[in-house]
Formats: sequence, structure tokens, C-alpha cells
Amino acid sequence: MTLKHPAISSKAPFMLHGADYSPEQWLKYPEVLDEDIRMMKLAGCNVMSVGIFSWVSLEPEEGVFNFEWLDELLDRFTASGIYAFLATPSGARPAWMSQKYPEVLRVERNRVRNLHGFRHNHCYTSPVYREKTKIINTKLAERYADHPAVIGWHISNEFGGECHCDLCQAEFRVWLKKKYDNNLDTVNHAWWATFWSHTFTSWEQIESPAPHGETQVHGLNLDWRRFVSDQTINFCQHEIDTVRSYNPEMPVTTNMHNIDGIDYREMSKILDVISWDAYPSWHFTDDGDDTNLAAWTGFHHDMFRSFKNKPFLLMESTPSLTNWQSVSKMKRPGMHKLSSLQAVAHGSDSVQYFQWRKSRGSSEKFHGAVVDHCGHEHTRVFGDVAEVGKVLAELNEVVGTSTPAEVAILFDWDNRWAVKDAQGIRNSGLKYEETVIQHYRGLWELGIPVDVIGSSDELAPYKLVIAPMLYLISEENGRNIEQYVENGGTFLATYWSGVVNETDLCHLGGFPGPLRRTLGIWAEETEGLHSRDVNGLVLEAGNELNLTGDYEAHEIAELIHLEGAETLGTYQSDFYAGRPALTVNRLGEGKAYHLATRVKENAFYTELYRAITSDIGVQPVLDCELPVGITAQVRTDGEQEYVFVQNFSGTAQAIELDGRSYLNMETGKPAAPKLELPINGLAILKRSAH
Ligand SMILES: [Zn+2]
Repeated sequence: MTLKHPAISSKAPFMLHGADYSPEQWLKYPEVLDEDIRMMKLAGCNVMSVGIFSWVSLEPEEGVFNFEWLDELLDRFTASGIYAFLATPSGARPAWMSQKYPEVLRVERNRVRNLHGFRHNHCYTSPVYREKTKIINTKLAERYADHPAVIGWHISNEFGGECHCDLCQAEFRVWLKKKYDNNLDTVNHAWWATFWSHTFTSWEQIESPAPHGETQVHGLNLDWRRFVSDQTINFCQHEIDTVRSYNPEMPVTTNMHNIDGIDYREMSKILDVISWDAYPSWHFTDDGDDTNLAAWTGFHHDMFRSFKNKPFLLMESTPSLTNWQSVSKMKRPGMHKLSSLQAVAHGSDSVQYFQWRKSRGSSEKFHGAVVDHCGHEHTRVFGDVAEVGKVLAELNEVVGTSTPAEVAILFDWDNRWAVKDAQGIRNSGLKYEETVIQHYRGLWELGIPVDVIGSSDELAPYKLVIAPMLYLISEENGRNIEQYVENGGTFLATYWSGVVNETDLCHLGGFPGPLRRTLGIWAEETEGLHSRDVNGLVLEAGNELNLTGDYEAHEIAELIHLEGAETLGTYQSDFYAGRPALTVNRLGEGKAYHLATRVKENAFYTELYRAITSDIGVQPVLDCELPVGITAQVRTDGEQEYVFVQNFSGTAQAIELDGRSYLNMETGKPAAPKLELPINGLAILKRSAH
């Protein structure tokens, strides 16, 4: 396994620090460019993402191009030692195009075509849009693919959304014909279409889901989501194809976001480097405790890193506040550095912002930026950014290092889509993502590195695989998990697993379907509980994990029968009091745990995973007790280990280190055995891997 990867660009083999930059908004203010370059250097910035929404500035009229401003910008960057991710501008198109070619405008679920406006609103199928994108991208690639300042392609911006136009409907039917071997009968069975007489007798009868049409055929909904994801990825591939050949060495990325409509794991396959935009709403809680949000953010960093199992880029984050969250809070002292370095701790080789300079007008004029409307560097936010610039400059040896993990959490888009569409058992909130995060948080609190993988990924590299609410699973993936456990792996599943197959048909013969033999249980019934209903998980005296105490169980409860598994804990109340709620099954060389109910307290998951990882010899990053809200993450090249200790608890904390010798990378001095962490505090420590 390679532990040290090459830098994302050989031109810039250091930690990248920068922002989205839109000088085209300031062409009437020529002094701004000079000032910006001066302040970029002052803030320790070495990269900018440019051209993201610049289409009309590059092609003001159809076929009329203007690259002067971009030429000047990139040449100035070269002279100043600043690099650029060059964007293709397809995230927002000029009005002349919408006016002349209405087919580029997206049609909503209600089958009404949008007017021109906003952004991210084009049809991914439209041949005109594809052609126009190809023309502008080709022009950009011809001119800049070998420019010394350009270190990568930033394809479009935050792909997302769906179009229901006639072109997309026709393409959906082509996609279905390919998937189902041109056999309508196969489609009808896969979708259980006999239900409510929904059987299709002609391909032309199949339409995308619509609020005034079909929404009740779950298999159709799922296939539509897969089609939309595939079509978006196909469009992204179309854009990559137009720029790639001009310089095959130039890495390609697209900035992903929290958009559940695209299977990012699939999208990552066509990219050279993964990048994403992280906007956690810090300081949301009354008591200043950001632990849960920090775990949520850490999970996402880990997920984006796991797609390629190598460093990723934090492409956007806010230097202070956003303007689109319900309340826009500023980052409190320390939080900018802490949250920026959190990304690096989980595998990012960059800290980048939206945006360098606040727009003067329009919808993002109050979105946080490095440079505010005051126009100078004497601000708190600029100081915070410059401080991160200084720290990153000390971390160049971390570039390219890895985050080896022995534990994986399964998180699949197919499952995510299907479980939310299920209709039952708890329509007031199944909380799939929240459940995944709650399990992840247990490991994050222990400082145990985690990869986030899909059900078709290889399981063998991991000692422990956790699959919360794996509602959708194919027979094949079920067999893979079974083999993984037989060969010595440890697996944990929960309630509401193994329920449907890959086309959303229930597994027959008893749940959890293809996981039944692995888990050694039969789940006869599963119920949703009202928010006021509280049951409990009572741990059996002397259970093999040495777990003790009672915990609250809520929201979902499954009644299981043992088919080889042993009971570790039971339900506390209701007519099923005393029946198994936590079990373990031995299969071949491995073990499979099953949690039949949702436990409320976060502490349960910490204790559960402390016991399981200790049983199978998974090491935490630091061999010492971490208070709640503190995590330790590690990156390594195999020789040195870089340990990032982060305090999100909202209170000052101190921890006794584990006796190994550490260097504090910010001071260059040996770290004291007792590590003091102020509110929003962070320590970056280096130790030998041996
Ligand atoms: Zn369309």
C-alpha cells in the first residue's frame, strides 16, 4: 500500500491555500486586481479557483470570445507565484443562450420549463448545451492547458438537480432498455408494476416521477434517481473529454457538495482528484458544544478521501459565515483554524474558501470572504485566514500522506435513496444519515480512523465493517459480507437491514434477507416508535464485550429470533421485554454483531466500539483517554506520523499523552506530556511511526 502519494500537481508540491476568485466582476475597478494579488501574498494564499461563473465574460455573444482579462490574470498569477484551478463555466450560462435555444433550460418535476435565471439549471441531455459547453471548454483548453499558472481543471460547479424535459424522458427510456435487456416484462417485474395496475405495455408510457403523476412505484423512483446521477456524471465526462486531450497531465476535479442526488462514489471514478465544499454551521448549539457537527464533518472528509483512498481537496469553505444558512453566525475565535485543519487531519491537501472577495451586489454579497467590502486586510477574518496560511506553510511534508484505516462504515447512495422512499416504518423520521453519523461518532470519539465505503467495495482490507440500516442489499453483496465474516472479518449491522434487493423488491423468506445467515437471526417484526416512547437496552451480566449498564432505546425496535446468535443485551420494557436487542453470531473465523434497536445515548456507541475494536486489536491514534468532544486523527508516510488533536467540545480541555515522544509542529519544540487544548483548540504533533 502506497502511503505517500505525489502532490496533486507537480507544479505546486505544497499545501494549497486559496479561494474562489471572480476578477471579472471587478473589471471596471482596475485597482482591485493589484490589491488582491498583494493581499493574497499577505494571507499566505498560493492558489485561486477562477472562471467558475465566467461564461458571459468569456463569450459575451454567441461565437464572440474575450480572453484578455483571463490572460492578464493568469500571467499576473505566474509572476506572483500564485496558481489556479481553471473552471469550465457550465455552472451558469449566458442569457443569449437561453433566449436562442430554450431546450437548454431545465424542466421541473411539474413539467414546467424554467425561465432564464439562477444557476445550475440546465438540461444535462440537451445536445445544444453539450455543444456550447464543448466549444467554450475547447477554447479554454487550447489557450490555457499548458499555462504555467494552471494546476488543474475545475469542471463546472456543484453538479446537481434533474431535468424532466422530453429529451431527458427519451434518454431515460434508452437507459432502461439497456439496463433491462430491452425487455419491458423484466422492468414490470423489477418494479412490481402489477400493483395498482401500473403494468407498462409500451416504453412510451414510462415517465419520470411527477407530483401530479407517478410517485408510488418505488423501483421506478430508484431507477430515475440512478438515471439522473448517471446522466449528470455522463455530462461531467463530456466536459472532461473536451479538455483532457490538450494536456493529459493536468488533473481534473469537480467540486462536490452535500447533494444526495448524485452517487458521488460513481462520479469519483471519472476524476483524478476528489474535491468538496464543506459548510458546517458551527456554533449551532446553546452550550457551544460542536461535537456532533464535528463528527458529521469528519465523516464527510473521510468519505471523500475514501473514494480514491488518497488525499483530497477542500475546495470551498467559508472564512467566516455563509449567507444561505437559516442564521449566519461568525466563526468564534479559534474555529477557523480548527475547522480548516480538521480537513487536513482527515486527508485534505488544501484549505480553500468561497470566496476571496465579497461581490458588490447580487445574491452572494453577504457571503463570507477573505476580503470584505472595506477592501483591506485589517480585519479579524483576514487575520484568521493569514494564520491558517502560516500553519499550512509549516505542513508541506504532510502533503500526499495517507490515512490508513482498519474500520469501514458502509454508506451507499442506492440505500440512501431507497430507505427514504420506503413508506414505513417511521415516516416521521427514519434518520438514515443521522444514524450513520451516530455510529461514526463513536469511533471518532475514540480517535479511530475510519474509511467510508460502498457495499460493492472490497471488505477484506478492514478488521471491522459497520453497516447501519443497510436496508437495500443485493444477494451478491450479502454473499460478500458473509464471506468476509467467514474469513475472519468482524461485521456489525442494525435494525432495518437486508429488507429490499437492488430494485427495491422485498427479500422473501425472512429478514434480514441475504444477511440472515451472517447475523444468525430472523427479524420477524419491526416497528417505529413515537418520539414519546422509550424502551431500553439492558446489557446481560457477564456479556463477552464486558459492556455494562442500561441505555435508552427509541424510534425503531425490531423483534428478532436467534438462529445461532447469542444475546448480549435485551429489551427493557413493553411486551417484548427480555427479548434480544444486541446479539453476536460466530461464523467461520469471524463475528457478526446485530443491534436490533436504536440506542439514544452517544456514549453507548463509544463503549460498544471501544469493546469491539479492543477485542480485534484495532489501535486508536492515541493510546490515552480522550474527553468527549476531542478527537485525534492521523496521517502518515510510513516513517513519520502527523497527529491532529482537535477540541470541539466548547470547553477548555487537557489530555495526558500516551508516553510517546511528540514534536509540536507549530512551535518546533517537543510537546509536553500534558496537552492543553483551549476552546476550539488544536495541536499538530509529529511522532515516529516506529
Ligand atoms: Zn432535459
